[in-house]
Amino acid sequence: MNLTDILKNEIRDIPDFPKEGIIFKDITPILLKPAICEQIVDHILNEIKQPFDCIVGIESRGFLLGMPIAIKAKVPFVPARKKGKLPGETESYSYTLEYGEATLEIHKGHIKKGAKVLIHDDLLATGGTALATSKIVQKLGAEVVGFSFLVQLSFLNGVDTLKNVSSNFYKIIEY
Ligand code: AMP
Repeated sequence: MNLTDILKNEIRDIPDFPKEGIIFKDITPILLKPAICEQIVDHILNEIKQPFDCIVGIESRGFLLGMPIAIKAKVPFVPARKKGKLPGETESYSYTLEYGEATLEIHKGHIKKGAKVLIHDDLLATGGTALATSKIVQKLGAEVVGFSFLVQLSFLNGVDTLKNVSSNFYKIIEY
């Protein structure tokens, strides 16, 4: 089986979570299988063509594979977290969600000015979260050189939201 089929087998659809009408793509069964996780890390690193010198993972599922990808690529990993979670001084960006607002933060001083940053998350839906993360990276004087996701919900057109930041976009499976 190729990796796409393996992931389609493992990822569970949870209907009406966290609210009615949403089909939540649960990636946690993948984490039970270290050999599959290793394959994902190798696959993503193999696909990415342009150099990067830092990975920013988005809270919280972007940490799960973002960190092992960074370890294997031998680059720093920097978490983008929800407001109020990071203890040090942060740069932040607020954005609109379907209901209300959200703010993401990154520690100041953890991304070097001019660094080439790859943004990683488990899933791309509308792209709002990844775009907000890009804005913080840019405020910190670094450059977003690409995005990687395990899953893309293509009917939500997230790639269009991100294309002005970087057209380097990697995903393993698409629904
Ligand atoms: P968006 O900002 O719309 O691209 O939403 C992406 C963020 O929300 C990611 O951090 C995902 O983990 C999460 N997310 C959105 N929709 C889903 C879904 N259907 N299943 C799992 N996670 C989702």
